[in-house]
Order: sequence, then structure tokens, then C-alpha cells
Amino acid sequence: MILRLLLFSTLAFAQRNVTDDEVARVHKAALLIDTHNDVTSRTLTGFDIGENASTGHTDIHRLRKGGYSAQFFAVYVAAAFANDHSAANRTMQMIDTVRHDIVERYPQTFELAYTVADIERIRRSGKIAALMGIEGGHAIEDNLRLLRNYYALGIRYMTLTHSNTNNWAGSSGDIAGGTKGLTPFGKQVVKEMNRLGMMIDISHVSDKTFWDALEVSTAPMLASHSSARALCNVPRNMTDDMIKALAKKGGVVQVNFACSFLNQAAANASPFINPALRAKLNAALKDFKGSAEELFAKAREVRKQLGIKEERATLADAVAHIDHIVKIAGIDAVGIGGDYDGVDCTPDGLEDVSKMPNLTRALLEKGYTAADIKKIYSDNILRVMRETEKAARH
Ligand SMILES: [Zn+2]
Repeated sequence: MILRLLLFSTLAFAQRNVTDDEVARVHKAALLIDTHNDVTSRTLTGFDIGENASTGHTDIHRLRKGGYSAQFFAVYVAAAFANDHSAANRTMQMIDTVRHDIVERYPQTFELAYTVADIERIRRSGKIAALMGIEGGHAIEDNLRLLRNYYALGIRYMTLTHSNTNNWAGSSGDIAGGTKGLTPFGKQVVKEMNRLGMMIDISHVSDKTFWDALEVSTAPMLASHSSARALCNVPRNMTDDMIKALAKKGGVVQVNFACSFLNQAAANASPFINPALRAKLNAALKDFKGSAEELFAKAREVRKQLGIKEERATLADAVAHIDHIVKIAGIDAVGIGGDYDGVDCTPDGLEDVSKMPNLTRALLEKGYTAADIKKIYSDNILRVMRETEKAARH
């Protein structure tokens, strides 16, 4: 018995020796799908995704190097657009940047996907399937007609909120609204998303909104870009209870690579935890509608003024979150939602989209099999999307 225990502990801690060939083979076969990328905030203002860029996290060259088979592009609508009733206008512009500046401009690289069948067909052709998800439920301006139009244009998930509590759902980013859940209209939004076949995305929502949506939705849900609160205590991450309950209904947590969602020291130096930083940044960003770069520069400037040192996360932190979710909820409950170009700080070893093979190597070294990695990279999210399509037909 002691021998067996010893053997087991040696196996559990010994890192497997993994060759470059194995990494390449497993990575390719896993057909990587990432459910959240904000390069759209850059393409909207003129960034050419076909250029080999030295800034940001995403371009075609790096997506290819990273071995992507599908990418959900974020149709991100900042809260400021809700305040002056221009959220729908902004949403339409963001949809257009995916359709026009990314897909139409580079038809040899991208094709727009609407269904699981589309994703499977497009990746067999060697192209990258492009999909769209709305970030911020205020995009529908409290009107189901707008929601239906967005679906018709190709939107396949929507986060019920962004960092702001809207008229029908509470957000994790809103201290006052953090305890708010879904209103009766909010529940109607979830039901209409189910009926259409649009995935319910609970990233950014308050805990109460999560539990309300879980109760109402007839399809499994996803967190398109959230990590585990047990390892990094920020309201944007999910508690173990939430992760287990999401998984029990067939859902998936797509791990976010933002330093401040992976690593507690990084979180403590972020506006999510540091009240002085949050207050100063909120004041500086009131009605902010600028680019992500301007936002990140502002955050850096405020952090410097307050003498707060930026802390980084590592590839090992990302692996720890994946591993934690697998341990508490199973291998079917986890995926990848990197949030590239939506965050300023990305982990050492996962700096941009081209670095994804590093994650494959780290998972193999930890003992994950090729089949496990395929579940994490594509099978799990495809299952949620397929179940959402099925629920819509019933
Ligand atoms: Zn986000």
C-alpha cells in the first residue's frame, strides 16, 4: 500500500517528457476554439488584422501560428453607449467590423460560421471559422426585436451584462448592483435567446444573475471568459458552487487569461480589488468611449500615480485554473476564452494568440491526454452550442 501510494505520488508530480512533435500533433488535432477575443475594438478603428503587428495580441499570422480553428470575436459595447442610448448603433458597428474588416477583407483566412455544422465544415477547409458574441446585454436596448436582429446577423452568444448593471440584469462589476439578479424581462430575454438558439453567456454577471439564468435557461450556458474564484478571488470569476452547478446542466467555463483573473497578486493590484484604484479609474473613465489602448494607458497611468506595482500571471497559473475546474466539475466543464486584446496584461508564456501551443505542452506535461485537450479546446464548447441549437428547435 505504501509502495503504491509512493508510486502514485511520484506519478502525480513527475512531469512527463513531451516532444515538439507530440505538441504539434496534439495541438492540431484539438481544433482550438477560443470564445472571446477583443481585436474587434482595434479593427473598428482601422487596425488591419492581416498586418504582422508588433502591438496587441491578435493578427492573422499569430492566429495561424497559434493553431486556431475557430474564434468568437467580441461585439463589445461599453456601458457609456447605454447612457446616451447609442448602444444599438455601436453594436451594429461592431458586428460590421467582424463581417467587413475581418471576414470580407480576408476571405482566404476567415469564413463566418452560424452553426456547429458550419464550424466543422470551415475548419475542414483549412480556414478559421469566425463567430460573434455580444458583450453587454444593454446592446438590445431592452427590446427583443433588436435581439432577434442580432441573431439574424450572426450573434451566437450574449453576455447578459458587461461591468454595468443594466435595466434587467445585475453585473459583477457593479458594487451596488452585485446583488441584483434577473428582472421578469431579464428572464424573458433568456427565454428568447433559448428560442432563437443564442448561447446564454454568464461572464460578467452578478452571482444572483447567474443563479437566476441557470434556473430559467433550457439550454446549457457558457462563461465565455471567466476563471475560478477559488484560485483568484475577484467577482468576475466563478465560485466552485457556480462552476459545479453550471457543469451539472451541461455548461462550460472558458478560462480567461487576464493576469488579474488568474493570479491573486495581480488581482490585488487591479481595480477589481484595490478600492483606491477603482475609484480613481472610475472617475477618469466616466463616459469613456475610447479604444482599448487608451483604456489600458489610462489604467497604467492611474496605477503609477497611486504607486501600485503591476503583477503578472504565468502559464502555470492558467494551467492551475483549468486543472482546478477539471478537479471540481470534470473534464467536460472547461474551455478557453483568452480575452486577448480585451486585457492589458497576459501571462508569461501566453503573451498573445500565437503562444497557445505552450498551453498544449504544459497540459501534456501535467498528464492530460490528447482526448482531454480536444475536449478543452473544442468539444466542450461545441457541445454547448449544439445543445443550444437543439433547445431552439424544441
Ligand atoms: Zn469581458
